[in-house]
Amino acid sequence: MFLRDDRDATLFGRISPDEIALFADADGTLLDLALRPDEARADRQLVDALDRLYDRLGGALAIVSGRRIEDIDRIFDPLRLPASGVHGAEMRIARDGPVVDAGAREISQDLLGVVRAMAANYRGAIVEGKRTAVAVHWRACPQAEAEIYDRLLRILQARGETELAILRGHCVYEIKSADIGKGRAVRRFMDAAPFAGRRPIFVGDDTTDLDGFAAAQALGGQGFAVSTPMAGADATFASPEDVRAFVKRLADKGAQADE
Ligand SMILES: [Mg+2]
Repeated sequence: MFLRDDRDATLFGRISPDEIALFADADGTLLDLALRPDEARADRQLVDALDRLYDRLGGALAIVSGRRIEDIDRIFDPLRLPASGVHGAEMRIARDGPVVDAGAREISQDLLGVVRAMAANYRGAIVEGKRTAVAVHWRACPQAEAEIYDRLLRILQARGETELAILRGHCVYEIKSADIGKGRAVRRFMDAAPFAGRRPIFVGDDTTDLDGFAAAQALGGQGFAVSTPMAGADATFASPEDVRAFVKRLADKGAQADE
């Protein structure tokens, strides 16, 4: 049993690697959530399975993460995959192709400085500048969650930053361009070979992934949540471990297998 209940397992069983394009978030989806973002690392087994799955899907496999693509490459090293980083702001359609800027606004050094100064008030809060986004990780100071959100909102309002929005993820708030998201990344991949013509499946664990589910569903595909069922998802994996088992199984699924 790889998914949360029988209905989900049946849904999974019907997925054929000959027909789908797979989009997977990294943290909390393929990887267990790490205490600090720089501690996340894919183990050898997962890297090997993703490598085989890439071949099995004819190359229609992409990582769609809030991280920068250079960071995704570090985590899955030595494997390189098609990827989108910073919630759709960075795109690399071909695994060996260039990282292309998807048109998100750059976060100014000034705004980054203001956010850093605000976060310095909270012990354990980590600020991560990602060029087109700035993340404030509050896993180490959960009591400050609401206060940090209010202060970020006030910073944006005071500066008249109407094109920027605050995205809430697992123990993190991110300021980024309001009109860029994971759904846009899915649509861009699906316009290009070898994704075009396949059925998109998006797997993610977080509210930042809902946009990816919606884009996949609008193109005739499905969205799968991880760990916690989400309105908008078609089914739910019980854990990242189950997502990894799904990846291995799909990679090894024969062309005629109908399990
Ligand atoms: Mg995630």
